[in-house]
Amino acid sequence: KFVEIGDSSENELPPGCDYASTKLDYSKTYDTCIVGAGLSGTVFAERTANLLKKNVLVIDSRPHIGGNCYDFVDQKTGILRNQYGSHLFHTKIQRVWDYVNSNPQAPRWNPWYHQKFGRINGNLYEGMLNGTFYVPIPVNILTVNRLFGLHIQTEEEMNEWLKTVQIPCDAVKGCQNAEEMAKSRVGEALYKAIFETYTIKQWDRSPKDMNASVTARIPVRSDFDPRYFADKWQALPSNGYTAWFEAMLKHPLIDVVLETDFFDHQQHLEGPACKTIVYTGPVDRYFADQGMEKLQYRSITFTEERHYQTPGYILPTPVLNYPGPETPYTRAIEYKHYLHQESPHSIVVKETTSDEGEPYYPIPNPRNLALYEKYKQMADDLEQQGKFIFVGRLANYKYFDMDKALLNALQLFDLHANKTTGGGST
Ligand code: UDP
Repeated sequence: KFVEIGDSSENELPPGCDYASTKLDYSKTYDTCIVGAGLSGTVFAERTANLLKKNVLVIDSRPHIGGNCYDFVDQKTGILRNQYGSHLFHTKIQRVWDYVNSNPQAPRWNPWYHQKFGRINGNLYEGMLNGTFYVPIPVNILTVNRLFGLHIQTEEEMNEWLKTVQIPCDAVKGCQNAEEMAKSRVGEALYKAIFETYTIKQWDRSPKDMNASVTARIPVRSDFDPRYFADKWQALPSNGYTAWFEAMLKHPLIDVVLETDFFDHQQHLEGPACKTIVYTGPVDRYFADQGMEKLQYRSITFTEERHYQTPGYILPTPVLNYPGPETPYTRAIEYKHYLHQESPHSIVVKETTSDEGEPYYPIPNPRNLALYEKYKQMADDLEQQGKFIFVGRLANYKYFDMDKALLNALQLFDLHANKTTGGGST
């Protein structure tokens, strides 16, 4: 068996997006120019073209559409995989589910209930059995039984056990940080085994210094439910996210220009070329010349292993978390798992996070949230002038899930459409 280890920036991105150009046409004018071809930009483009029947430019510095959702079929293994980490769509919002299914040209969404294990060295934590364990995350009955050698069988028993370990947050003030939040759900030992080191690896900050919302994303289950998410709809586009983005953006009124940096053409685009500009990039990048401190983001470094002639799976679950100190990786992803792809090979991508590199995660701590408020004020002032709209995870500095990003974009589009035409979208 041959294993090749590399870095995902070595991937040659396949052609795709054939209808897109890489050259901005200075002779054209647009109703709406959109900076960024990710989720938020795509919603604005599609809605503007289909509902307002106005022309749109989507410009992105990357060589592809789809933002961080971008996926492609790896040429050497035939495996459909993401370029920037796995993306699991889940929502309980009817409007979002209807929207992602609204285009008959787009791939259908196949149900996919995400599950992941964490690899835990029980020797390190008080009360746990000695040995290495692969346990469901979020914590459920099986997690507790495996790690502590218990035989809990019912929800009542699990709730009783949880009550003995949970450390409730202050009744009035609530959970003040990510540590208190996690301990209020799973207690000291599981906090240490699952959350503490992982959070330090992920954010390079103590959970004490992170907003409670960070660990509030991970629930605790009193049953055997092994799913990572509890939402009603959980699905993956049958032939990939990129195909979904292509279908949403394929419209005679939408021009897509790739490998083109907005800031290289800022003066032109902020002139008569664009009536409205929808900016989905980092908000502090837009105001970079104002001499303000920068917002912080975490980036991900991907280390790829290509396992040739490996018909089975390398990992027990599509994603395996490494919450312990024995490795610098936070998690590993084996793409072949998704939608039960068949291949004689496999690709495993391991993640480490760092402060350097492309921005992936806003860092929700008090310093950044306070600084963002100042940027928001500047963005609001600019929006008041009527030309700009700041939308999305980076422009709004919000740790949005995909469905919340879609909902936010749909709602902001409504506001914009109401202002310009007196009518909204459905
Ligand atoms: N987290 C953790 N251990 C885990 C999984 C999550 O400590 O095994 C914490 C960690 O702080 C992480 C946060 O919960 O940043 C949110 O996790 P999620 O899986 O939602 O992160 P994402 O998929 O957005 O990277």
